Amino acid sequence: MDQSEKNTGVIKSSTAPAIVTGNAVIEPAREIKVCDEADVVVVGGGPGGMGAAVAAARSGAKTILVERYGCLGGMATGGLVTAFPNMCNDDGVVLIKGLNEEMMQRLRDRDACDHPPRELWGSRDPKQVAYYRQLSMFYTMRGMVNYAVHVDAEELKCIYDDMAREAGIKLYLHSWGTSAIVDSSSGKVCGVVFESKSGKQAIRAKVVIDSTGDGDLLPGVGAGFETDTGKGTRVSHASHCFWIANVDTAKFDEWKSTPEGEKELQARLQEGFKAGAHPRGAATLLPHQEGLRWFWTREECDQIDVKALTRVELNGRIKMRKTIDFLRANIPGYEESYLVLSSPQLGTRGSRRVIGDYMLNKGDADAGKTHDDTVALFPRGGSGGPDLHVPYRALIPRGVDGMLVACRATSMDLEISEYLNLIPHCVAFGQAAGTAAAQAAQAGVGVRDIDIKALQADLKKQDVVLP
Ligand SMILES: Cc1cc2nc3c(=O)[nH]c(=O)nc-3n(C[C@H](O)[C@H](O)[C@H](O)COP(=O)(O)OP(=O)(O)OC[C@H]3O[C@@H](n4cnc5c(N)ncnc54)[C@H](O)[C@@H]3O)c2cc1C
Repeated sequence: MDQSEKNTGVIKSSTAPAIVTGNAVIEPAREIKVCDEADVVVVGGGPGGMGAAVAAARSGAKTILVERYGCLGGMATGGLVTAFPNMCNDDGVVLIKGLNEEMMQRLRDRDACDHPPRELWGSRDPKQVAYYRQLSMFYTMRGMVNYAVHVDAEELKCIYDDMAREAGIKLYLHSWGTSAIVDSSSGKVCGVVFESKSGKQAIRAKVVIDSTGDGDLLPGVGAGFETDTGKGTRVSHASHCFWIANVDTAKFDEWKSTPEGEKELQARLQEGFKAGAHPRGAATLLPHQEGLRWFWTREECDQIDVKALTRVELNGRIKMRKTIDFLRANIPGYEESYLVLSSPQLGTRGSRRVIGDYMLNKGDADAGKTHDDTVALFPRGGSGGPDLHVPYRALIPRGVDGMLVACRATSMDLEISEYLNLIPHCVAFGQAAGTAAAQAAQAGVGVRDIDIKALQADLKKQDVVLP
């Protein structure tokens, strides 16, 4: 800014005006400042992105994390999705460990999470199953007590900050990754462009990890992706999450404790749904959150269509108000309750899924297919089946070099997405991708050319469960 600009407060735009032609606008070419450089840049700081950035940085890579909001955690914090389910298989063996378990331990250390006791994971004792089922829908599955954790979202935000700080990750918050940069001679992805209050800037990197949840960087690099989220599926729905406080839970529990009470509750809830409310919620279950209940609306929509997202956000608030009014008027225990928080971030479950070098698919999963390049093992959840082996190839976008995808947009078909599109699983995708990206950057090789055995050995050292 020169002196005359300072005096008048006028700053000349560095951008030439766009040209309007009918319904389109042509943006003139312009230079974008490279503001930083890293070995690995991760775009999106949700469960996938946190796993990726922490793993990359701890593996010695200079790592930058670009996140569009002001906190880390994605749905797990800003989305108020505060349940980490399905971490053990039908034998009660914990399969998702590594960074995810470290996060759980850090929450335990802060008294900021709750879950059935370790010795009961995998238990089929009907008394225990009945007890934990009524505590939380996440605590049991297929007649078994599950390792599932309810977390305190605010504590988790701070824990993610701690982990990023301790690992030496450079954060760009309030920064929206818009496209990947592709090297014109090698065709390899070599950085990312992002928008923020500071304008449009670029970061150069040896490996870019798309952890946006929506695969936002995929269209720009010519990667193939699927957007089919089906009809009536879990992942086809976006949600507005909100918390209701000051519920007299003792009064509510007593009222519905008899078979007649339970029947009456269900009948009244149905009336509430008919009236446009969304009154079915879950207990948040942390001892210090007594009287707090977690609710979420559901609306099927295209989760990468800004008009649909706007509609769901607005409808969500209409439903939220109808819900509190309905509960206060109709459900004992809710008379004095009030709305305390709605999620700053709209709850989205599914959109783009990359077509990778390998696509996780139900056929292979049902057959218990194993791979030489397995980098994560998952319990099947849902209707059950053998443990699922996730090959490294599922993280690599087909036909693209210099990039990995580690989030719910990792390469999987719709049916598998229904099971695996969960927080702990995305952390595990991220941990594998971050470790691999660091290896590729340090060895100066493409993401397909890393030493898979060394990657698996590294992951095992990080307490990741592998075959
Ligand atoms: C209502 C609801 C209930 C759910 N229930 C559960 C449950 O009980 N348990 C469970 O495990 N899972 C549940 N899920 C699914 C779970 O939340 C997601 O699968 C998981 O959060 C996906 O993690 P992710 O890292 O892929 O994406 P997200 O959690 O969406 O994180 C993506 C991050 O990237 C950022 N971002 C996005 N685009 C950009 C961009 N262009 N530039 C920069 N940053 C960007 C976002 O702000 C966000 O921080 C639920 C989801 C919803 C909506």
